[in-house]
Amino acid sequence: MIHENILQENKKIKEKYIYRRTRLPYYGWLHPCIICGIITSNIEDVGQLEKQYEIYKFITYLCPRCQIKKHSGDKEINKKFKSTTTRYINYYYPNTIY
Ligand SMILES: [Zn+2]
Repeated sequence: MIHENILQENKKIKEKYIYRRTRLPYYGWLHPCIICGIITSNIEDVGQLEKQYEIYKFITYLCPRCQIKKHSGDKEINKKFKSTTTRYINYYYPNTIY
């Protein structure tokens, strides 16, 4: 555990936002919910991946309604969240393992 913390301190954390591309501004605050597609500014952690010199922290857009369902353990939502985020990460960051 301590070893892990030391490793993390020396690595730069890079936040990687994953979401469906739309006509909305690329660097805007509003993007479609990864589950239902509704436009939202609400974000959700996907997880992080430790690379050799840095840590990728994946974040996605999840509307409050889907977020509540996800955190209440809705199996369908969790399955969709996992498969969709994995697909996006594999597509946009093909050299990473998730
Ligand atoms: Zn949603």
